[in-house]
Amino acid sequence: MIKMNNKEIKTDVILIGAGIMSATLGTLLKELVPEWEIKVFEKLANAGEESSNEWNNAGTGHSALCELNYTSEKPDGSIDISKAININEQFQLSRQFWSYLVNSNLIRNPQDFIKSLPHMSLVEGEQNVTFLKKRFEALSNNPLFQGMEISDDHEKLLEWIPLIMEGRTMDEPIAATKIDSGTDVNFGALTRMLFDHLESHHVEINYNHSVEDIKRTSDGSWELKVWNIGTGNIERHTAKFVFIGGGGGSLPLLQKTGIPESKHIGGFPVSGLFMVCNNPAVVAQHHAKVYGKAKVGAPPMSVPHLDTRYINNKKTLLFGPFAGFSPKFLKTGSNFDLIGSVKPNNVITMLAAGIKELSLTKYLIQQVMLSNEKRMEELREFIPNAKSEDWDTVVAGQRVQVIKDTEAGKGTLQFGTEVITAADGSIAALLGASPGASTAVHVMLEVIKKCFPTYMNEWESKIKKMIPSYGISLMDNPELIHEIHTSTAKTLGLSEKELVLS
Ligand SMILES: Cc1cc2nc3c(=O)[nH]c(=O)nc-3n(C[C@H](O)[C@H](O)[C@H](O)COP(=O)(O)OP(=O)(O)OC[C@H]3O[C@@H](n4cnc5c(N)ncnc54)[C@H](O)[C@@H]3O)c2cc1C
Repeated sequence: MIKMNNKEIKTDVILIGAGIMSATLGTLLKELVPEWEIKVFEKLANAGEESSNEWNNAGTGHSALCELNYTSEKPDGSIDISKAININEQFQLSRQFWSYLVNSNLIRNPQDFIKSLPHMSLVEGEQNVTFLKKRFEALSNNPLFQGMEISDDHEKLLEWIPLIMEGRTMDEPIAATKIDSGTDVNFGALTRMLFDHLESHHVEINYNHSVEDIKRTSDGSWELKVWNIGTGNIERHTAKFVFIGGGGGSLPLLQKTGIPESKHIGGFPVSGLFMVCNNPAVVAQHHAKVYGKAKVGAPPMSVPHLDTRYINNKKTLLFGPFAGFSPKFLKTGSNFDLIGSVKPNNVITMLAAGIKELSLTKYLIQQVMLSNEKRMEELREFIPNAKSEDWDTVVAGQRVQVIKDTEAGKGTLQFGTEVITAADGSIAALLGASPGASTAVHVMLEVIKKCFPTYMNEWESKIKKMIPSYGISLMDNPELIHEIHTSTAKTLGLSEKELVLS
């Protein structure tokens, strides 16, 4: 550690934000170069309090087993499964890394953050049932989706999802797919476990420290102006490498760096609400994550789903998320976040998006205005007998979708995640929110590859020790998939059914 003056300290790596992304990057780097000094600055009092918190996201281990928006119908009527394959392979990287950490005793009790849970897709109406059948045909032939079942038989569906089928008028065709190798992940618990591990391995974690500014120094490092909320003091900390893992707060920080890569990018905040069941008798009747189809005009992040969740090891039932509009970039953010992010270099991009996305904005505002009874009506499309008194609402996390200029035109709204890095790899920021926490390991490995290219030769074998499928297409290696599924299921305590691969 280099002491620069009373208050200015130079370190190897600074991670901004104590969410799942910083937790994952810090843990990966600690394994690759244990001697590097890492500091974390988090403005809240604890780790995993924003989007990564268990109440702020849906806890789906996204691996495209149930999310219909990851498979689209091509003009010739066939189903494009390339995105589903990508996301599934990315989730396998997470499973392998988490298993490595458990096997190495770096984290314990995996049942406290991951549990097996059937993933299901449910559709109604002839056209949707035809789509689901075609999707099933396309996926079930792929080794990554082995074990998927489909049924349009009411008796079978009643057995799979009694809460959804009871009281249903059978005037429309209905069908569902089910795969038992799905997971429910408590990303909040995992984030806290990873930060506990980092803290016990000499990473300095500074809670109640808000990063206010980021500037280049003359030697190419980065100096952070940090507000110590506890003391009210301003501190200055310098690092050779900075990761901006501020979730929704990443865009304003990236803009402060002034790097050319930060220009012409905007953010579009989308808020969320879940309905949570307060009746244990109802909670007990459901055991799956059941994803439906997004309504026409609705953005992909508002696909309705009825999810069994395990929060603090207690079985819970959530429905949602209902998307909405709020100008805040974080749940704990400010109403001036959106307007403050409009800069001379992105104003045209933002205006273009504003014009293009009028219908989305209108949709989100309508969603915010929904009364509880209107939300209950949407829930009753899943649970026909749902009673209003059994359900409360909770505010979910805030997502900031990236707006940028693409081949599709100026101000195009993106629904994925974007890693933005400086040309010299000295700073990286993660923007966007989907598929999110599930693919944190893949995304952080991308950050490492982009920012530390000269170390990759040396690190590759270490990464492969932690993540055997790193750099290999799993889809083309069914035997490796089987091996990974079997070993990670055993380590993480996941369903035995997972071990059966036909
Ligand atoms: C409604 C909803 C449902 C979702 N469902 C899923 C799901 O089912 N599966 C899935 O995989 N993903 C899901 N996601 C996405 C997932 O939650 C996010 O991708 C992930 O949690 C992002 O992690 P992060 O570390 O980037 O951000 P966060 O967890 O938000 O952490 C960022 C941290 O940075 C801190 N910070 C911000 N600015 C500053 C600053 N200036 N100084 C210091 N600290 C700062 C914040 O306080 C916060 O603690 C969902 C998200 C939402 C909102």
